[in-house]
Amino acid sequence: MKAEEIIAGEANTIVPTYSRPEVVFSHGQGAYLYGLDGKRYLDFAAGIAVMALGHSDEEWVRAVCQQAGRLTHVSNLYHTAPHVQLAQRLVENSFADRVFFSNSGAEANEAALKFARKYAYKGQENGNKNQIVAFSASFHGRTMGALAVTYKAKYREPFGPLVPGVSFAAFNDLASAAEAIGQKTCAVIVEPVQGEGGVHAAEPSFLAGLRSLCDEHEALLIFDEVQCGLGRSGHLWAHQAYGISPDIMTLAKPLAGGLPIGATLVTEAVAQVMGVGDHGSTFAAGPLVCTAAQVVFDRVNQPEFLASVRQKGELLKKGLLALDPEKVMAVRGIGLLVGLQFTFPVVPLVAAAREQGLLVISAGEDVLRLCPPLIVTAEQIEEALAILGQCVEEMAA
Ligand SMILES: *Cc1c(COP(=O)(O)O)cnc(C)c1O
Repeated sequence: MKAEEIIAGEANTIVPTYSRPEVVFSHGQGAYLYGLDGKRYLDFAAGIAVMALGHSDEEWVRAVCQQAGRLTHVSNLYHTAPHVQLAQRLVENSFADRVFFSNSGAEANEAALKFARKYAYKGQENGNKNQIVAFSASFHGRTMGALAVTYKAKYREPFGPLVPGVSFAAFNDLASAAEAIGQKTCAVIVEPVQGEGGVHAAEPSFLAGLRSLCDEHEALLIFDEVQCGLGRSGHLWAHQAYGISPDIMTLAKPLAGGLPIGATLVTEAVAQVMGVGDHGSTFAAGPLVCTAAQVVFDRVNQPEFLASVRQKGELLKKGLLALDPEKVMAVRGIGLLVGLQFTFPVVPLVAAAREQGLLVISAGEDVLRLCPPLIVTAEQIEEALAILGQCVEEMAA
């Protein structure tokens, strides 16, 4: 198919929930993507912080092709090895004792919320410990439960009534959280570093305060690390930068290197309230996706790899801080999840960068988000900074 045919065909067949630029990608290699027209793009979007190892990583491709030729899917009615091998890696390298696998970030959060409700349900006498506290600027996904804890009213309002029992407190405001969390709270869900909501890192005192409030009120603390987890922060888990552990952590985006996966990591106490038939998924944790995820996990979970993410993150931030302060209000983030807040909406800037061969995405109206593959090189970061610098310069303030 030609690019024009693809774009026109989409306009006639696909539910119009996305506004896509007029580029059709044909293949990728490392941190670069290639259009059907042969044009090369430096990919600082990474499929929304998914392609941790970049595109077409040799080892990943080999593992996936081999496993596809052996066994792709049998369902969760049967045992398979890759499922257990991935789970062992996750629990041996985290606070968690057990894992529940699913197929996306939203699903991982649905599981987290269900587990938290059941945990309180088992423990309670009066039947009303079912309230969930989430935060301003949060993003947890688009399914009914995950949407109910997502802050932006525009995403939620047309689809009500959503899952009841949710209230929002102000992110990084412990007094506001203290007001919202009480004896009826069964769970508090928070992104240690918010992604979609504008790239805001939690203050250490905020996460520590949430941990204490949850302990005091016997509520479970859920960290949504769907975007910030698995190396993107320069730590295996973003919460390790804070020294605070949750009761439940959700993962998804980068975990299988581009294949759909979600994971809900829990303590033994949480796992023990779930029984046979309490939750499930047809596709989750199949041999193919779990084989792919092991390649990603083993590469990312190396001290040198994580150190390189921190170093490259610093290099990126340093370059961004040199941009025009009349236009750039703030540079935020951690590791290779960096947000740039502008004094103007970033849509034209995203388009201008793409024209110059750099893919970046927004995180709200006026925030540009940079989340390159974790294997990006220092030279590629300099290349991105040069393009971005030029585009910012050409934007009217
Ligand atoms: C993307 C994202 C989700 C939702 O993940 P999907 O795979 O799109 O369902 C949830 N939480 C966070 C923090 C995310 O960035």
